[in-house]
Amino acid sequence: MWSFSFVVPTFLILMIIIIFYFSLPRLDIRMNRFFVQLVAIEMVTIIIDIASSFADNQYTLMPLQLVNFLNFLFFASFFTRSLIMYRFTFGVLGVSVAKSALMKQVIRTPYYACMIITLLSPFFGLIYTVDEFGYHFGKLYNLIYVNGLFYILMSFYAVSKYRKRLSGRRERYSMLLYNLILLSGLIIRYFLNRYLLMDTFVLMAIVVVYLAFMNPEYFLELRGVVFNSIALREYINEHIDDLDDRCMGMVVHRYYEMRDIYGAVQTDVGLNMIGRYLRQICPKGKIFYYRRGRFIIFGDKDVDFKELSSRITARFRNPWVSKTAELFFDVGFATIELNNDVESSDVILNTMIKALSTVDSTDSQAPLEVTEDELFQTEKEIKIKRSLETAIENNTVELFLQPLIDAETGKIVGAEALSRIRDENGGLIQPGNFIHIAEKSGRINELGEQIFEKTCRFIKDNDLVNMGVKWINVNLSPLQFLRKDLADRYSGILKKYDIDPEMIHLEITEESTIDDCFLKRQIQALSEKGFKFVLDDYGTGYSNLSRLKKCPFINIKLDITIVRDFCKEPDEILPTMISAFKQMGFGITSEGVEDDCMADAMKRIGCDYLQGFYYSRPLPAEDFAKTYAM
Ligand code: C2E
Ligand code: MG
Ligand code: MG
Repeated sequence: MWSFSFVVPTFLILMIIIIFYFSLPRLDIRMNRFFVQLVAIEMVTIIIDIASSFADNQYTLMPLQLVNFLNFLFFASFFTRSLIMYRFTFGVLGVSVAKSALMKQVIRTPYYACMIITLLSPFFGLIYTVDEFGYHFGKLYNLIYVNGLFYILMSFYAVSKYRKRLSGRRERYSMLLYNLILLSGLIIRYFLNRYLLMDTFVLMAIVVVYLAFMNPEYFLELRGVVFNSIALREYINEHIDDLDDRCMGMVVHRYYEMRDIYGAVQTDVGLNMIGRYLRQICPKGKIFYYRRGRFIIFGDKDVDFKELSSRITARFRNPWVSKTAELFFDVGFATIELNNDVESSDVILNTMIKALSTVDSTDSQAPLEVTEDELFQTEKEIKIKRSLETAIENNTVELFLQPLIDAETGKIVGAEALSRIRDENGGLIQPGNFIHIAEKSGRINELGEQIFEKTCRFIKDNDLVNMGVKWINVNLSPLQFLRKDLADRYSGILKKYDIDPEMIHLEITEESTIDDCFLKRQIQALSEKGFKFVLDDYGTGYSNLSRLKKCPFINIKLDITIVRDFCKEPDEILPTMISAFKQMGFGITSEGVEDDCMADAMKRIGCDYLQGFYYSRPLPAEDFAKTYAM
C-alpha cells in the first residue's frame, strides 16, 4: 500500500546533513537548539514512518497490536513534528514562542487535541484503524492536514510580523521558502499520500534553513576551530539578560607587524594553533576569534581567568611550531566582569576592543581589569552615536554661532559655526563628545555638509552686514579631505544659496594622518573655488612649520591651551611666534578668551581677533541673529 521510493533516499540524505552538522562545534543559542530538535524529530519520524508503513504493507506477518502501535507512534511523531517545525521559525526570529499565557494555550491546544485523538485511535479508530484486513484511514484522518496547516499558517504569520528581526533579504526569503516547502509538502501529501512524500519535503525545508542559517561554518573562524564575530554577537545578544558570565579578551601583540614578519599564511596557521590550544585548556569556555589577533573567551564564575592567563602566557614563551616554521607571539589580556545591567552586545564588545587596544599598546602581562565605569562610558558613547545618527538622518544637527571680535575695535567681525546635537531627552551634546565618533564611523562628511549648508542658509536669510559679520568660519575635519568631490560639493551648496565664497572661511586642524600631498591638493581645489583657510588649534601638537608654509592660510587660531598657558605664565615665546607669523602675512586669532585680563594680554601681543566666553558663548543661530541684529 505504501511506497518507499522517496522515504529511504530522504533518510540517507538526512544522515549526511546530521553527520556534517554535528562534526563541527556548535554554539549554544536558541536557534541551534531548535534546529537540533527539528533534525531529531525528523529522524525519528522517518524511522517510524518506514517501520509503520512496512508493518501496514506486511500486516499479515506480525501481530496486529504491533501494527497498531507503530501507527500510533507515527501519528504522534507527525503531530509533534508540525509543532517543532513551527517553533523553529520562532527560534530563527529570536522571539519566544508565545508571549502571553493565552497565546501559549492557543498554540498548544491543537497539538494536545490531536495527541489525545491519536491516543484514542487504537480503541475508536478515529485517525486510523487496524483490523484483520490491515490498515485503514479513520474518520478524522484529515486532522493531520488541518493541524499541519494551522502551524504553517501561524509560521507565515510570525515571519511577516517579525520580518524586521531577520537581517536582509536572503534570510527573509529563506524563512518564506522554508514554510512554503512545508505547505507544498502537505498539499502534495494530500493528493499522493501513498508515496510518503512529506518526509522529502521536510528534508528540503531542513536543507533550506541549513544553508541559510545553520551551516556551522557560518559561525566559525580559523578553519572551524573557534567561533567567529557573528557567533559572538548572536551569543551575547541572546544571553544579554542572563549574563552572569565573565569574559576575557586576549590579543596577539602587534598583529600587523607579525603578519608582515611571518606572512599571512603562516600567521593564520599560528592563530589556528592558538585557537586549538585555547579550546584544549579551556574546554568549558566559549571561545571566539574577533579578527586581528583578538580572542574572546566567555566562561562562568568558576573559571579562574587570572590562572588561565598566566598559563597561557607561560605557553607563549615557547614557539608555535608549524610544519615549516617556528612562530613567536606575545599576548596581553583584559577581563570584564559582566552583570545583567549591560544594555547591548555593542557595550561589551566595544569596551573589550578598547581594552584590548590599550593592552596591545602596553607590554603588561597581568590582565587589564575593565571597570564598571568603562562599561558605562562605552554605553554613553553608544547612546551619543545613536543620537548622532538620528540627528544626521533627520537633518537636525543644530547650528550654533560664536562671535569673533576685532581686537582693535572690540566689535564683532565674524563668527564661528559650531555644531550641536541633542540626546533623547533633548539635552545638548557638545561636539567634543561626538565629532570623533562621527569621524570614526564615517559620518563626518554628512555632518560637516549639514552644518556648512545651514551656515549658508543663515547667511542667505540674515542681513550679516547689518550685524557687522563679514564672514563665518566653518570647521572642516581633515577626514573630509578623503572625499574627492569635496570642493565641487561645497561650491555647489554655495551656488544653491547664491553666496560669495568670501563669506566663508574653512577652519582646519592639522592632522598627522592625512598625507601632505593629498592635503595640499584638496586645499588647492577648494581655493580655486574661492574658499579661504584658517589654521585651527595651533599649538596642540601636530602643527609643523613646513606645512604652514605650504598651505595658503589667511589666519592662525591659537589653541585655548597655549593662550591659557601664556596668561598664567607670560614668556617671550608666544609674542615672538606671533610677530613671526604676522611677518609671514598670517592674521592671528586667540581662542578661549575668558576674561578681560586675557583679552588685554592677547591684544598686547598682537592678536587681530579674539574669541571666547568673555565676549559670548556659542549661541543657537536664531539667538545669535537676534543678539547682533542692530
Ligand atoms: P574649535 O573649532 O577649536 O572651537 C572652539 C571651541 O572652543 C568651541 O567648543 C567653543 O565653544 C570653545 N570655546 C570658545 N570660547 C571658549 C572659552 O572662552 N573657554 C572655553 N573653555 N572654551 C571656549 P565646542 O563648540 O565644544 O567645539 C569643540 C570642537 O569641536 C571645535 O573646536 C571643533 O574642532 C569641533 N567642531 C565643532 N563643530 C564642528 C563641525 O561642525 N565640524 C567639525 N569638523 N568640527 C566641529
Ligand atoms: Mg574651530
Ligand atoms: Mg580651535
